[in-house]
Amino acid sequence: MKIETLAIQSTQMHDANAGAVISPIYLSTTFERETDGSYAHGYIYSRADNPNRQLLEKSIALLENGAVGLAFASGMAATTALFQSLKSGDHIITPDDAYYATNVLITEVFGQWGLSMTTVDMTDLEAVKSAIQPNTKLFWIETPSNPQLKITDIQAISEIAKGIGALVAVDNTWATPILQRPLDLGVDIVMHSTTKYFGGHSDVLSGALIIKEEGELSNKLRTIQKLTGGVPSPFESWLVARGIKTLALRVKAQTENAGKLADFLNTHPQIEAVHYPGLATHPQHVIAKKQMLGGFGAMLSVQVKGDATNAMALTGKLKLFTTATSLGGVESLIEHRKSVEGTDSPTPDNLLRVSVGLENIEDLIDDWKIALE
Ligand SMILES: *Cc1c(COP(=O)(O)O)cnc(C)c1O
Repeated sequence: MKIETLAIQSTQMHDANAGAVISPIYLSTTFERETDGSYAHGYIYSRADNPNRQLLEKSIALLENGAVGLAFASGMAATTALFQSLKSGDHIITPDDAYYATNVLITEVFGQWGLSMTTVDMTDLEAVKSAIQPNTKLFWIETPSNPQLKITDIQAISEIAKGIGALVAVDNTWATPILQRPLDLGVDIVMHSTTKYFGGHSDVLSGALIIKEEGELSNKLRTIQKLTGGVPSPFESWLVARGIKTLALRVKAQTENAGKLADFLNTHPQIEAVHYPGLATHPQHVIAKKQMLGGFGAMLSVQVKGDATNAMALTGKLKLFTTATSLGGVESLIEHRKSVEGTDSPTPDNLLRVSVGLENIEDLIDDWKIALE
């Protein structure tokens, strides 16, 4: 089955009780036990498993071509579970341009537990190799990166990691499996903030890990998920599963819009730079073409001529782009990233991050035309 069909089929629950076409939501936290001690339906207690979460986990695993899916209460809870599977003394290599909270999580929380990290420009494979330490156990990739849209060669990093017996994880939130499937490129684990494109409507917080093979690692992560309990509720699981049904359509249409907006902004005299992997001028365009088989995504960032004040002022002039953080919903959003990340963030002062929505592209371009006048 192709991914569009899988998305519909895998989120359909067979409801023997009422024949409901759309999945019921099982709010029950506890499930009946037989007198012989067994559980007829396989469920015991909702932190460990429940029908809505299980449906979601199986669906996400299928879409990413992995063996095991694990759903969490947020993207950060998913990332936390993965870091908790490491041991004190382990070392992680992370990208210098990445979702800001990921690196902060390592330094502020996991530093106390004995994890260390080296941050490198992952587009530079020599820099990645020279960051390797004897205790390097995990390479964390985010591509396209946040917020500068750098593209990391997933296959090349996977080969470097395999060479030293380390794991590779990809934060695939921005690309989604519609555009890019890291597990097919040699990666061990994919992480998602399903708050973004999977949910798709900016109304549910959740995350996921997808593991390529069932085994020691997936069992360990499943145990961490059940014991630490950072899981999505049945309703949240249901919302994300509903979002999956239209994931392919939304991502493709939003990607098409983003490509057109990037082309328009790229030639505008008020714009200093456009960061979008679909542009032939993007420094890693060739790598993006090789691994983003479904398209270049619906996220872009622009550097406006001038300073932070000019950039902030522009967000106020755009009428169709709500100034807000987050991404991946049907509505277009814009954000001055540096003021969110803090003064020590490496993000340029004049950078605006744009999440392109499902509105008509002519309206979106007109909005920028007027705002930039
Ligand atoms: C939003 C986001 C996260 C964090 O996910 P939450 O669901 O907010 O916890 C991680 N990585 C990327 C790329 C994101 O966009």
